Amino acid sequence: MKNTRSRSFMVLIMTLAFFAGLIYHTINLVIHSAEWASFPTNAHLSDSDGLEFAGTIYDCNGVVLAESIDKKRIYNSDEDIRKACVHIVGDDSTNISTAVQTLYRPELTDYNFIYGLGVPDALKKGRDITLTINSELQKAALGALGSNKGAIFFYNYKTGEIVCSVSTPVYDPANIPEDIEQNAEYDGAYLDRTISSSYAPGSTFKLVTTAAALTEYPDAESITYNCNGHEEIGGKEVTCYKTSGEVDLKNALSDSCNIYFANLALKLGKDKMTYYADKAGFNNYIQIDRAESVKSVYDVSQASDNDIAWSGVGQYTVLETPVNMAMISAAIANGGVPVKPYFIKSMEGAFGTEGTKGKTELAESMMSKPVADKLTELMDYTAATSYGKDYICPYLDVCAKTGTAEVGAELAHAWVTGFCKDEECPLAFAVIVEYGDSGYSVAIPAASAVLNKAAQIYKNQ
Ligand SMILES: [Zn+2]
Repeated sequence: MKNTRSRSFMVLIMTLAFFAGLIYHTINLVIHSAEWASFPTNAHLSDSDGLEFAGTIYDCNGVVLAESIDKKRIYNSDEDIRKACVHIVGDDSTNISTAVQTLYRPELTDYNFIYGLGVPDALKKGRDITLTINSELQKAALGALGSNKGAIFFYNYKTGEIVCSVSTPVYDPANIPEDIEQNAEYDGAYLDRTISSSYAPGSTFKLVTTAAALTEYPDAESITYNCNGHEEIGGKEVTCYKTSGEVDLKNALSDSCNIYFANLALKLGKDKMTYYADKAGFNNYIQIDRAESVKSVYDVSQASDNDIAWSGVGQYTVLETPVNMAMISAAIANGGVPVKPYFIKSMEGAFGTEGTKGKTELAESMMSKPVADKLTELMDYTAATSYGKDYICPYLDVCAKTGTAEVGAELAHAWVTGFCKDEECPLAFAVIVEYGDSGYSVAIPAASAVLNKAAQIYKNQ
């Protein structure tokens, strides 16, 4: 009797385990089948890596960036547009892991749960995807970066729409160079540097140190330090490229005085600097639709006093992604809270349009509104007195901060970040030119090329 009871118990356990497994695998199949079927390694896919019936990808104005004709994937007829958009659109392969044709391949190929990949020819048509990017701005950005390696990222700080995102080096998805893997010219060509690379931010990081000081000290604006061009801070020298004398916060930012911000960072200390860097998006990823950025890094856990001083001017081991830099400017423009950037405007399929258009989603607050407003004033002053507003863009009212981030004895990355105050053109941006040497003479002109084009598009200038 005892034996029979334990045997029935075993049967019951095994039956339950069987049904649990069945439910688990069914759920898994429903959730993941589209993904599995569209793996490029799936032998059932052919020629265009499964894109032969894929939907069309449009820019924000309906310009076709990629479409499938006669079972072939065809990209825009303008070579510059093809190249400028390669990191956003992708190529036939999935080499660019953050591109739309990689991340949205199940939707583009419209894998069907009933038919699988065996959808009858008459029904074959992937979902169309409309992006927020503007191909004209893309082209302007590519022209501005030229043969330099770098990234240009512009987005609407009110709506979150990414209007321009270009990473160089580029390649033509319609004629992929045979030596792409070997030629140094294409070094990192599969990386979208706007989100997948991080760089020493240099003086652009002074915006974060400024936000920290403005939040911590009610009298921050009247804090002064004396700059003689070099000073021993935390046991070692900190240097400036010029001598500013007695400077306050406003003039220290426009002069980009290292000694001022190094002293300020040391005054704030390790914990507060880390707290405000975290608030500004450091030590975290940024999710942009299905793409995820690498982390921007601010880590002073092992830092000496001199290291903390240098961290306050964006040196030491500080690293930043262009997208995070643009979001800091967006937060300043937007009263302290940045809008999350996104690039999928809408997706159209058999079941109608899935609109993501107008999805204005706020990220976490980076600073209070009074601090953001004060920073706007300071960046406005910096743009007007140190760079010249007309030099940045004669048609738009741009607030900005440059950076020239030392990455070796003689080498420096050129940065500029900022935003337009114009109602019709609410764009925030970040530009980096690798080894560009000067934020002022290299990064600003690159930003200008896109800003001038944007003025034409949004303001008919
Ligand atoms: Zn100085």
